[in-house]
Amino acid sequence: MLRRLISLGCQYSETKTLERKIILVNIAALMASLTTAIYYAIYLVFDNPTLLYSGGAQMLTLPLFALVLAANYSGRFTFARWSLFITSISSVLIAITSGQGTVFNTHFYFMLFAILPIALFKNDEWRSKAMMTSVNMVFYIYLEVFGWPHDAAMDLLTETQVMFLQIMVAASCISCLMILQSINEVYAEQAEQSLQRQAFTDGLTGLYNRRYFSIQLQSKLIRERLCLLLLDVDHFKQVNDNYGHAAGDQALIHLADTISAYLRPDEMFARIGGEEFAILLPAHEAVIRAEQIRQAVAHTPLFFQTNKINLTISIGVHESRENDSEEDIMRGADNALYQAKATGRDKVITTQTSAYKKTS
Ligand code: GH3
Ligand code: MG
Ligand code: MG
Repeated sequence: MLRRLISLGCQYSETKTLERKIILVNIAALMASLTTAIYYAIYLVFDNPTLLYSGGAQMLTLPLFALVLAANYSGRFTFARWSLFITSISSVLIAITSGQGTVFNTHFYFMLFAILPIALFKNDEWRSKAMMTSVNMVFYIYLEVFGWPHDAAMDLLTETQVMFLQIMVAASCISCLMILQSINEVYAEQAEQSLQRQAFTDGLTGLYNRRYFSIQLQSKLIRERLCLLLLDVDHFKQVNDNYGHAAGDQALIHLADTISAYLRPDEMFARIGGEEFAILLPAHEAVIRAEQIRQAVAHTPLFFQTNKINLTISIGVHESRENDSEEDIMRGADNALYQAKATGRDKVITTQTSAYKKTS
């Protein structure tokens, strides 16, 4: 229910930035309504005629906060933002001018309203931002310097009650800023992660791409000795030629899935070229597992439409030596792969010994 309320209007948003701003406005409207109601409940307990009068008048603004949510719901975002600010400013002005004065620093809210436009308005609405911030700063500075007189009934409040309300004002301003800033942080982190995922992922197979593979290879090479497996699909051009490009695409996805089943989640597996893949494995088990992968691919045909398509791969394996660069290890595995192709395909060749070693 609450989730639905705070995301009212998000269905129209095409960008994450706008979605975040819509959510912030909805949350701000809900927090403003809640705060108004909490104040009124406190005034009821304090049973002070001036507070009850001004709190009651503020309660009349609640339907206007509901209007903010309704405006977002119908896609009128700019109207929603302006309604939120005008209603909030009016509510605080009602409180101050209807007898409360500035006894418990209600004008601090204008400082909050001067900061919030930066988060709530869009970047291209800089005029609205500037206007809102200036108006609220003027309100705040005027009331801070000159204050506003209060009704005589306010003097009936005890010192503790006044202090309580002063703390309420300060705490609600700070918590409002904290909540809105936390939401901004969560969104920024999510956006960053999603961009990074896109930048490092192959769109077709969902595997890591060459860029990410290269970064990982370099950082892992410094820490440990490892084996690079370069895998290339045999006669893949024929798959495209015989069954069409869509079948070729499906074959690449099928291969990615088949091979992934033989790898641990933390093992590096990437599509580094059209029909070329790379895997990093611990040196001691690399050759055995490369052979398992080769056999798995050979024994798992792709069923595409009415066709059964047999696929095989050739694998070149190279173990890194101390001080090997990324280029050295890539060249080693590539040479082994070349040998696998040249000597008949569907096989694993390793450069483990000085001579090329055929394992199948
Ligand atoms: P070899 O056994 O020597 O590796 O033969 P091959 O046919 O696999 O090698 P070649 O390099 O001649 O052809 C690779 C083909 O892979 C050519 C290209 O059209 C195809 N290919 C590359 N990327 C994709 C892709 O994303 N989708 C599809 N369907 N085909 C692709
Ligand atoms: Mg190739
Ligand atoms: Mg190939």
